[in-house]
This record gives sequence, structure tokens and C-alpha cells, in this order.
Amino acid sequence: MKYAEVSVNSPVAQRRTFSYAIPTGLDIRPGQAVLVPFGEKVLQGVVLEINPVPAVEDTREILDVLEPQPILSPNQIQLARWISDYYLAPLFSAVALMLPPAFERKGLAFISPAAPDIDIDSLDDELKKVMTLAVGKGRVELKQVEKALGKKKAAAVVLQMVRQGLIKRSYELAQVRIKPKTELYIGVKDETADDSKLSPKQAVLYNFLKGKTGPVPWSAARQETGCSKSIANALEQRGLVKFEKVEVRRQPVSYENITPSTPLKLAADQQTAFNAIKSELVGGEDMSARVFLLHGVTGSGKTEIYLQSLAEALKKGKKGIVLVPEISLTPQTIERFASRFPGRVGVLHSRLSTGEQFDEWRRIKNGECDVVIGSRSALFAPQPDLGLIIIDEEHEWTYKQDNVPHYHARDAAIKLAELTDAVVVLGSATPDVETYYKAENGEYKLLELPQRVVPSVGVAMPQVEVVDMREELKAGNRNIFSRSLSESVNRAVTADEQVILFLNRRGGSYYIQCRRCGFVLRCRRCDVPLAHHISENVLTCHQCNYRTPVPEACPNCGNRQLKFLGAGTQKLEQEVKYTFPRARQLRWDSDSATGRTSNEDILRKFRRKQAEILIGTQMVAKGLDIPSVTLVGVVNADTSLNLPDFRAGERTFQLLSQVAGRAGRGEAGGKVIVQTFSPQHYAIKAAAKHDYASFYQQEIEYRKQLHNPPFTQLARLSFVHTNDAVCQRKTEEMKRTLIEETRTGGIGGISIIGPAPAFIHRLRGRYRWQLILRGQNLTALLSQVTFGQGWAVDIDPVSLIQ
Ligand code: ADP
Ligand code: ZN
Repeated sequence: MKYAEVSVNSPVAQRRTFSYAIPTGLDIRPGQAVLVPFGEKVLQGVVLEINPVPAVEDTREILDVLEPQPILSPNQIQLARWISDYYLAPLFSAVALMLPPAFERKGLAFISPAAPDIDIDSLDDELKKVMTLAVGKGRVELKQVEKALGKKKAAAVVLQMVRQGLIKRSYELAQVRIKPKTELYIGVKDETADDSKLSPKQAVLYNFLKGKTGPVPWSAARQETGCSKSIANALEQRGLVKFEKVEVRRQPVSYENITPSTPLKLAADQQTAFNAIKSELVGGEDMSARVFLLHGVTGSGKTEIYLQSLAEALKKGKKGIVLVPEISLTPQTIERFASRFPGRVGVLHSRLSTGEQFDEWRRIKNGECDVVIGSRSALFAPQPDLGLIIIDEEHEWTYKQDNVPHYHARDAAIKLAELTDAVVVLGSATPDVETYYKAENGEYKLLELPQRVVPSVGVAMPQVEVVDMREELKAGNRNIFSRSLSESVNRAVTADEQVILFLNRRGGSYYIQCRRCGFVLRCRRCDVPLAHHISENVLTCHQCNYRTPVPEACPNCGNRQLKFLGAGTQKLEQEVKYTFPRARQLRWDSDSATGRTSNEDILRKFRRKQAEILIGTQMVAKGLDIPSVTLVGVVNADTSLNLPDFRAGERTFQLLSQVAGRAGRGEAGGKVIVQTFSPQHYAIKAAAKHDYASFYQQEIEYRKQLHNPPFTQLARLSFVHTNDAVCQRKTEEMKRTLIEETRTGGIGGISIIGPAPAFIHRLRGRYRWQLILRGQNLTALLSQVTFGQGWAVDIDPVSLIQ
């Protein structure tokens, strides 16, 4: 007999597997999804290992296999184990990353009569009720019994009946929720039918359809004939046409409008970088990861290198995965890959419907996609023969998952590459200083693209002017725009050029403060200032989305004069209207753009020059490539600078560099104006000069002095509870436990910061306290500790102010 080590979908399982016997006749391999008994229940699990002996004496048998083929490859099994071990995450949460979309299903409980000949009439009322339900359909879902009797009562009665041998319980997984996608088609029903007395419009539609060889999509028929649904309905009623639903394959990329592209002739720096990657693609001698850091300013042609490297990998019979931040996973980005590899690109991201994700996953698994492009989780796509993993904008925080498992896609990718002998290319204009440090020290290979290739090789980066807002105040200018910025906007608008105004903040206003007592309106649950949204005139909490109308007077002292402080994108919109009345403007932030269409709409309008000014938050900083933008204004560079996180300088530098990269991508060149109250700050000074090197030198020096990463490792332990005092006590206890653990284990060099309330102290009515650990090899230490309910462990956190 053989035994399987199974990762089971139960919170009880934590980081371990469970041993099950493999019944004879069942062919089971590692990576296969199975059904197993677990306590009272039947659960989904994935087989990670097959052994001749079980890890425990008493084993139950695997019930069934869910799919004939293994779902996880051996490499993915290893990767899941690594994620669970390193990030101290439940094993199944790591396994689940690699399962097909909607694979996880709920277990349903059923009851049925234990014997065919039970005398129902002899039972008590409640028992009779349950029995009648069960007998009626042969079996009944427990939920139905709960509906009839109430949840508590149902549990008690069912238990009693099971004990008396009247009924049996059974478990089953819920149905797969994915349905095939259908599209409405319309076609002629009866060619010979009487088509006299049709209205002119009806005739147009009917003749159109008669001219077709078969049914056509209704959307197309409507578009081409200009006929409305009611006209079609009228024809249907007369029996001339019929509608039908036709199953279609969901396709996130429509290739119809994509013209294939051919490789460009690389510029000298590009060629050097490409050659280096190419030479590694032949396969490594040792099994250490081969990681490149491709450091190139925006517009230096990184994407072209990705494309040619992927083509090179394909020549060698390998396939690729490309990760981009969710926010820049726009149709344009996808199009660039799809046009180089027509019909061979798979797309995976969270905005696809589950059905689309499901279909794409199958295609990838079947080896139909040479390139998979997607956000963070696309790393876990079942891409066979993986040869190249590309991570664009590798410095982006979104590569770190902020729920369990708290993995970083970059580190997971490097691990996966190690397992599959693939090459990793990390690309960025502003690499994470920790990545750059590794490149400097030879752990990664550094490839530099110092020049822009558009509009021509070596074109200058846009000129950046830093405006000291303190001077503006001194000169009596209390406007949100400095004199320089407003002059430049006017000049650009007059010259029929386009402008982007960037503000790292959404909402109408930072907060509302009473002018007399100083009271600031805050969210009662989260304790952060409420932001004012002008268009709806409501106050919103940006943590928990609590909404409340603007009070007429101060809730604290009754004073009617409330001051609106700070400025968000909506406020900025008003200011723009007022200051530049002749310019048309568009606002792009997560309030104005919801869903994928409206994002695109805003962008399309701007591209078509239906507005001169685009106002936006982070979103405008990413991946926008509009040649006619000649001016970018950063309205307030200080918003990210003063956050209590050691990475604030780095974030500001990255943000400013990215925003600045939006200007001057066309022939007209470009200019950037940065408004700040801290013009002397090294991050701002370096960003203004497009000087990554000087920023890095300063930043790495500070990191060293303060013992921050990359010189140490961090872990954040947070505890959540409705009671603030409990949080404090629990985190203090944990600190003592950890100190004890380091002492007994003889582990040195670890410092424990806190406990302290988290930056967001209250979230959705619950308090949060945290401990920050700083040292080396924290996973080893923390894996010795048991964390109970309420605890969250984040290894290598990217933010300390969440
Ligand atoms: P990055 O990814 O570094 O921002 P891209 O790869 O998007 O840069 O390149 C910017 C623009 O330059 C794109 O329009 C691209 O088609 C073009 N480009 C890139 N490499 C070359 C080249 N070797 N010759 C001509 N145009 C190029
Ligand atoms: Zn709140």
C-alpha cells in the first residue's frame, strides 16, 4: 500500500500535510487534487508527495480524485512548500495560488434516512419534520433543515437523529460556479415566410439577415443596421427571425484589431543587454538562479528587450511569464505582447471574469500560450517549459500580496526560476534599493540602459524645475499653483499641447478642521481624518469607506466655520477650472475610473485631445505614453515624503521619477514642475536631476546607518482585536515570548520594535497593534513560535504603515 501526503483545505491544517492511504485501484500522483475525509467532513486537498510509509500510524483512505491529471507540477509543489515555509503561511493557502480559478469549492452537508422503513408517524414533531424533508427527496441539504428549524435547533435535532440511527450525514462539494459564456445570435427563421407589410426598419433588418449564410451576433447586426432590439423582437413575434444563445470562448485579448509587429533594430545599449540575457537562456550549469536587473529610464526600450528575449526563449523551446503591476496591465500593454506573439498570449488578472480566467488557465495548461502576461498571481500560471520570467516595474509594492500568504512575487519568481532553471529579468527605471544593492554586489547581473530611445536615441530627459512653495507664500501667493506652474500651464494650453497635473491623493480635501477649537473630523472606527468628496458633498473614510454628510457646525464646539484643508484631485479639478477657464480637463483616479472600460474611456479621450489637462493620482504615473504631453505638474510632492516609514524617501523618488517620465516622450520635448515645501530633500533633488545613482548612494547610506533592509531583514507581527487593551497586552506578551525564544535558542542580533499601535490604529471597528522585528533569518526564529487567533505575520513587509 502507498500513502499520500496531502495538503488539505482546512484552517486546522496550517503548515502541515496529512497522511492518507491510497486505496487500490486509484492511480494517484503528486500534484493531483483529491477528496479526503477530514474529521466529520469531506474536503479538497492536493497530494504533495507519495510515500511507502505514512507519517502517522492511523490513516484514512483518499475518497476520490477530482481531476485525472495532476494540477500542480513538481516544481509548483516545491514552490508552494517554500512559500509556506518562508512566509509562515498555511500550506494550502500557498497551494491554492496554483489551482485553477474557482477550483476551491464549499463543502455541503446532506442528510438522508438511514433505513428505508422508518415509521415517520411514531416520531416527535421536530424529528418528523426533518424526516419528512429527508424522505421527500431521498436526501436534503442541511441548510434546508436549518431554514425549517433554525440553525441551533437543527444542529441539535440532527445530532440526536444521527445518534438514534434514523438518519445519515454525507458531504459533497458544491457545484462549479463557472458557466460557459454565451452570446446572443440572431438569424432568419423561415426564408419562405410572408415578409410583406414590414415597416421600413424591419425590412432593413430582415433583408440584412437574409443576406447572411447563418445566424450572426446580435450586437453586430444591431451595429450594422442601426436597428433597435424592439424591431428585432417584432420580427421574432411574426416568426421571421429567431434569437439563440451560442456558446463562445471567453477571450480577454481580441486579436482582431492587432497588427503583428516585428522586432526593432536594437540600439547599442539595448543590444548589449539583450546579448547578456540571450547567452543565459541557453541553460545554466549550476542550479543557482540567474537574475538580471534591467535598469533603464522610461522610454529606454526595456519592453523591446523583453519581447526579443521572449522570442529567444521560444527558439529554445521554452515559454515565458511576464508580470506587470495590475495598474499598468492596460490593453495597450497587452497589445504590445499580443502583436509580437499573435494568438499565443495568455492573460491572467483579477479584472477578468472567473470564466475568462478559467478558460485562459486551461489554454495555458495545454501549452497553448508562449507568453503569459498578468499581474502578481500570474506567476503561478501552469506554464509548461518555463524558460524566462520577466517582472516589469519590479520596485512596485503591489508585487507583495497583502493578505495570506504574504508572498513577494519577485522573490517567489526567483525561487521558481531556481527550480525550473529559468532566467529572471527584473526591469525598472527606479529599482528597489534592495534589488539594486544585490545587483551591485553581484548577486544579480546589472544591465543599464541610460538613454531614451524615443523620439530618438539619446534624447534628453525632461527638464525638472523644483518650486519652493514657502517662497510662494512669502511672495503672497496662496494659490495651489505656483506662479511658475500656472504660467507654464497657460503657455502649454495656448500652444495646443497637453498637460498632466499629478496629485498623490484622492478625495476632495485632506480633512475638515474647526477654525475655533481645532477639532478634526475623523472616522469613528478607524481614527483617520475623513476626506471630503466635493461632487457628492460627503465625508469618506479612506480606510473603511465609512460615509457621512458634511456637518453644518463643529461637532465639538458648535462653531459654524469649518475649514477645508489640503487638496485632493476633486478640489484640484475645481481650482483648475477657476485658474485655467479656457482649458478642458479630465480627472483620472480610482473615484472617477471604475472598471476597465471607464479607465480606457478617460485615456482615450485624452489621447484624442478632447482635453488639454489630465488630473490624476498614482494612476497617471504608470505606463502612460502620450507624446503630446509637454508639461507635467506635481502639485504637492510632500504627501508621500512625510509618512512615518523608512521607505518614504524611496517611494517619493520612485513616484516623482515615474511622473516625470510621462513628459517629453514626443518630439516637442517636455518639462516637469515639482511643487514642494521640502526642496532640499535628497529624494526630491535626485528625482529632479533624474539621478538614480545619487539617490541610491544617499538612501543606501541611511539604510546602513539605521540597520534597515537590505542590511537586515524585517518582519511585522500584528494583532487585531476589538479591545485596545487586549491588543496591547497580547503584543507585550509576544515580545516577552520572542525575547525568551532568542535567549534559549542563542539567537543574537535581533531587535524588537514596539509594541505600538499600527499606523492605521483602528480598522473596521477593530484595533491593531504591531511588533516589528529586525535582524537576520527571522523565519527560522518565528517558525518556532505559535501564533493564535488574531495574529498576522508578515515576513519582509513592504510597508510599515498599513
Ligand atoms: P520602456 O519599456 O523602457 O519604457 P519601451 O520599450 O516602451 O521603453 O520603448 C519606448 C518606445 O521606443 C516604444 O514606442 C518602442 O516601440 C520604441 N523603441 C524601443 N526600442 C526601439 C528601437 N531599438 N528602435 C526604435 N524604437 C524603439
Ligand atoms: Zn473608517
